[in-house]
Amino acid sequence: MSGSLRTDAIVLRSLRYGEADRILHLFTPRHGRLGAIAKGVRRARSRFGARLEPFFHVRMILHQGRGELLTVTSVDTIATNGALRERGETLDAAARACDAVSRLFETSEPHPEVFTLLVSELTLLQADASQAGPDNGLAFRLKLLLAAGIVPQLSACVVCGETEDLRGFSSAAGGVVCASCQTAAFVLEEESYRFLVAALGSPLAQAPRASPRALRQVERAIAETAEHHANVRLRPLLR
Ligand SMILES: [Zn+2]
Repeated sequence: MSGSLRTDAIVLRSLRYGEADRILHLFTPRHGRLGAIAKGVRRARSRFGARLEPFFHVRMILHQGRGELLTVTSVDTIATNGALRERGETLDAAARACDAVSRLFETSEPHPEVFTLLVSELTLLQADASQAGPDNGLAFRLKLLLAAGIVPQLSACVVCGETEDLRGFSSAAGGVVCASCQTAAFVLEEESYRFLVAALGSPLAQAPRASPRALRQVERAIAETAEHHANVRLRPLLR
């Protein structure tokens, strides 16, 4: 990458820097996660300071200079996702979604499907605060695992191939295990299993719902998978 780059981006984080600048963590379709600096944006007359808050969907021109950070030279707003910030639960859910993307996709490798997924998640949270619960958050994370190429195998026991009696989950083995292969796995109940399958098979807006007990098992399966296969620790969703 050299010269100027025109791209859509979601602002993942926006950090104050020096007197009037901001350092931005951006997620883009073709260039993955990028770091950029926006100079002078905290001055009152800045042209685009207000457009560089977290969760903004923007179209920007970035200039590649000598340093590691790109410099923001122009910004157009596509969506502010402003309603997200009005409620604690949607703000928190959006921050966790951005954080999970940031941790699982930290390089400049292209992931247009992850960009689209993040845009959908923010749009959904923006439109419907009832989507801010852990059901949606876990469905989103599962789809991120799929995009990262580390989604757990759910169709058959990862050890022996058995398709009945799937009762456990082993992140080391990479998916569900049957009753006879259950050593070194934790118990994954029927409801949790059904949630995993349904969440992967449906759009985010129709993410399945499940009991807190099942969601805790699902969260454990996702967290252990991310840790084991991507060396990434995701922030807990349930407490
Ligand atoms: Zn088995």
